[in-house]
Amino acid sequence: MKTIAIAGAGAMGGRIGTQIQEAGYDVTLLDYWKEHVEKINRDGIEIQTETDTYHLDIKAKFPEEVNEQYDLIIILTKAMKSKEMIEVLNQRGAIKSDTAILTMMNGLGHDETFATVVPKSQIFLAVTMWTAGMRGPGQLLLEGDGTIELQRVDGVADERTETINQIFNDAKLNSHVSDNVFQSVWSKATLNSVLNPLCTILDKRIGEFAQYEQSREMITPIIEEIVAVADAKGIELNFDDLVKKVEGSYPDELQGLHYPSMHQDLHSGRYTEIDYLNGKIAQYGKEVGVATPTNALLTHMIHQLEMKYVEA
Ligand code: NAD
Repeated sequence: MKTIAIAGAGAMGGRIGTQIQEAGYDVTLLDYWKEHVEKINRDGIEIQTETDTYHLDIKAKFPEEVNEQYDLIIILTKAMKSKEMIEVLNQRGAIKSDTAILTMMNGLGHDETFATVVPKSQIFLAVTMWTAGMRGPGQLLLEGDGTIELQRVDGVADERTETINQIFNDAKLNSHVSDNVFQSVWSKATLNSVLNPLCTILDKRIGEFAQYEQSREMITPIIEEIVAVADAKGIELNFDDLVKKVEGSYPDELQGLHYPSMHQDLHSGRYTEIDYLNGKIAQYGKEVGVATPTNALLTHMIHQLEMKYVEA
């Protein structure tokens, strides 16, 4: 895979793109944020780590300017922008019949979105525990460690899976090939579907939420509904493991001191990914005949907050 595009080059796209370029690959960042793209082309991208701050020269362009084809496209927009992104790249002729389209966005249903444009044999899903932040246009904040696991969505073994895995490992992204990526995607989506809306609605850090003695009672119905919907869709999730996963993130040295990204999005006046978390559970629940009143209510509450913080 010689040509790699990162479609959606904010915090996470910036991390993945710059680390892959630093490993010696040809990477192009594609993004709609004008100041960001212009600054990267003018000054390079500024990377701040725990130990260092440095500049990296990397190509950046607007999706509408694309006039080449890529072997690998990694989509890292926010979930609600990914359909537009893949459609524009398709119109620009950027996608060949063997281009691998991979995403590690949070949430559910991305494979269905991409399958409206390319066959499933070209779609790869990944789950990452890496994090990343932005200090401004062209300025990345890259702290901590993480992992990636990936698989072709139809489960078929593919040389490209191994190649992408190798690229990620060359980029020190600590990657492995999964044999059940959907379980991991749903498991991470559960964590996000519990803590993102609750801490956003309550305006609390994760650790503050955890201090409430009956917090277990609040997270239980959300997780029960997700497990039931997953089960109806043939994805095996374990309720107790998921409770442990959520509660395991509570300590200060893990996630306790943080507001989840949904809180940050809302308070920056940006739409949230709620429709791809609890909203997707409610949608799937209707499709498979499983009641999801708690997830539906949380979705409505976040949409109400979007009216207040984004649309007002
Ligand atoms: P992000 O907000 O940093 O970037 C997403 C898009 O928004 C990019 O196109 C970016 O250029 C644009 N953008 C960001 N700030 C902007 C501004 N001020 N003005 C205009 N445009 C702006 O989002 P992200 O954190 O990179 O998330 C991308 C995907 O990765 C999401 O699905 C997210 O859930 C997932 N993810 C993120 C992290 C993380 O730590 N950041 C970790 C795991 C998964």
